[in-house]
Amino acid sequence: MRTKIIAGNWKMNGTRAEAESLINELMPLIVGKPSVEVVLCPPFPILAKVEELIEGSRVALGGQDVFWKEKGAYTGQTSAKMLIDLGCKYVIVGHSERRGRFGVPEPDFNEDILAHFGDNNTVVNRKTKAALAAGLIPIVCVGETLAERKAEDTDPVIIGQVSIALQDLTEEQVCATVFAYEPVWAIGTGEVCASDEADRVCGVIRDTVGRLFGSATAEAVRIQYGGSVKPDNAQELLGKPNIDGALVGGASLKAKDFAAIVNAS
Ligand code: 13P
Repeated sequence: MRTKIIAGNWKMNGTRAEAESLINELMPLIVGKPSVEVVLCPPFPILAKVEELIEGSRVALGGQDVFWKEKGAYTGQTSAKMLIDLGCKYVIVGHSERRGRFGVPEPDFNEDILAHFGDNNTVVNRKTKAALAAGLIPIVCVGETLAERKAEDTDPVIIGQVSIALQDLTEEQVCATVFAYEPVWAIGTGEVCASDEADRVCGVIRDTVGRLFGSATAEAVRIQYGGSVKPDNAQELLGKPNIDGALVGGASLKAKDFAAIVNAS
């Protein structure tokens, strides 16, 4: 039985004061669901503050990205070791807002597809390996754009993203990895993927893991859905057999909404 995991990706939101009031409101609202794993992924500058606020609770801390090098002249980057030092257990890798759909050297800056930073599948693989090697659990995001879905390319895109992300990993490392299926067109748009289709694509992810690492690994790996998850659609999504949790953006910034999603698991 896979433990459900609900993670809040705060993206570029939250000062220390805002984090404090959000977490103080959230904590008493989620006591009823001790069986669900809850993760908060605030922006880097407030990781230390959030770590202080959740200390001693069941809530775990996660980073929103990680660089694959251990240290050195990499201005603006954050290593896995630094995240662990700040108390992180998880890290989001390959979020579509960090992927460049056409890869380096010419990342696509089209705001409509939310690709700003040029992570391609190879970069995602490096980040995944670096996170696991250091002892962090990566939440590896995969998902198709609207154009890819319209071209009926969803499954090959997902299979490619999953296969490359997992290159050179051991079965044990893959068992620990969390995936998030986040269709790009459903992120921040209010347009949620229909639960049956979200479940089907999460099944494609699981089958891909199974083909590469065996059925026991496929059974163990946890797969979240992300993209406009809200209190009113959470229960249906989280009730699906291949969906083991949610990666929540906008709704994770409202304590009541995030708590309702945790409590719907
Ligand atoms: P929204 O929940 O705001 O659609 O964002 C989803 C997401 O990108 C989480 O990583």
